[in-house]
Amino acid sequence: MSKEKTLIIGGGQAACQTATSLKNKKYDGEIKIFCSENYLPYQRPPLSKKFLMGELDKERLFFKPEKFYTENQIAINLNSYVQRIDIENKEIFLKDNKKENYDNLVIATGTIPRQIDVDKKISDKVFYLRSIEDVLQIRGKIKESNKVTIIGGGYIGLEVAAIINKLGLQVTIVEMASRILERVTSETISSFYTKIHKQAGVEVLTNTSVEGLEKNNKGVEVITSNGVIVSDFVIVGIGVLPCDTLALESGIDAKNGIIVDEFCRTSNDYIFSAGDCTMHPNIFYNKNIRLESVHNAIEQGKTVAASIMGENISYNQIPWFWSDQYETKLQIAGLLDNYDDIVVRGDTKNQSFAVFYTKENRITASDCVNRPAEHMMSRKLISEKILIDKDRLSDETIPIKEVAN
Ligand SMILES: Cc1cc2nc3c(=O)[nH]c(=O)nc-3n(C[C@H](O)[C@H](O)[C@H](O)COP(=O)(O)OP(=O)(O)OC[C@H]3O[C@@H](n4cnc5c(N)ncnc54)[C@H](O)[C@@H]3O)c2cc1C
Repeated sequence: MSKEKTLIIGGGQAACQTATSLKNKKYDGEIKIFCSENYLPYQRPPLSKKFLMGELDKERLFFKPEKFYTENQIAINLNSYVQRIDIENKEIFLKDNKKENYDNLVIATGTIPRQIDVDKKISDKVFYLRSIEDVLQIRGKIKESNKVTIIGGGYIGLEVAAIINKLGLQVTIVEMASRILERVTSETISSFYTKIHKQAGVEVLTNTSVEGLEKNNKGVEVITSNGVIVSDFVIVGIGVLPCDTLALESGIDAKNGIIVDEFCRTSNDYIFSAGDCTMHPNIFYNKNIRLESVHNAIEQGKTVAASIMGENISYNQIPWFWSDQYETKLQIAGLLDNYDDIVVRGDTKNQSFAVFYTKENRITASDCVNRPAEHMMSRKLISEKILIDKDRLSDETIPIKEVAN
């Protein structure tokens, strides 16, 4: 009898975790990964941090060396874009129309950056940051430039601004909203990060939309609602879109992400999905969400492996994420959309404090700047829905472990 076969589309965090977890669980079927990129699965967070800075070698980005895949009989097919899934016949089709059948299929296709419309003659001055290739190009450009404009004041834009500023270039951030990070955090955190970027010499323009990009003899003119900024090049960081078209066109339910249940199973019984591309239920917030975070990709990869093994262990995680800018590590736990009060522990004038978002005396989310203990504790307090005493929470003389009511 032929062995069971699991195919994994995508070669990022979620794909690598799924394959690794299957092996850890002694899955004895065949495992094949198909990834459109030409690198072994690698971590993306350093791309906008140490790798952009030039402080980390490319090889250090890979989750596993090549021999891990060979030794574990995980067939890894790079430069292999999957174009179509035939869910009736349980087959996938590659670029060259080669096909491969499956028993289980995992879609871990991640996201792609949202693009802006630009004229072809200027496209060599406009960059996005998602892959190793993107960073290699940007690093080359940094060497020959003095001034960069970053469109978008989200986490990636801000991390990139901090690194390029450290590398000695003049940086301007252009943000359409009234404050940076508006979509993802509170005024308190936005003000803190605006301040540290400005102190470092970065220009932060809010309430400013980009109306066009024009080539000039030095580089590019960024035409904004508040005037023209002349730059050598532009980096765009205005969010991402889930890669769910492949699923959708194959008849799998998707809407702002591939829809999965708590076992990461899609609308098709033999197809699972994990990572940034999923729209999944979160039991702590009682709604479907899409996350762009390493933790989610890892945990969903584990959930998929468990489901394939018939273990049915449901995914139930408090979202968390981090961002490194200058000397600060921001750790974010929970979702921000559900709070009626904010409690600050520590002084936001220092680079070490924690902001807790509470609802009816329970923490629903937190932003901790250089405060790992508070971050870890808040994940516990959120997941266990523990009643807290807000006065104790804001009082630094009381250990964070003793803030429960
Ligand atoms: C610059 C940057 C910084 C980040 N920093 C942080 C951070 O500090 N903390 C944090 O928690 N998260 C961070 N993230 C997010 C984190 O990296 C992602 O959440 C994580 O990589 C998601 O993994 P994934 O496997 O779902 O998707 P991805 O890593 O996007 O992998 C998907 C892969 O699938 C491939 N693919 C897509 N379609 C096809 C197809 N049809 N056929 C074959 N292959 C296909 C893609 O090329 C890609 O290689 C960062 C992301 C970026 C880009």
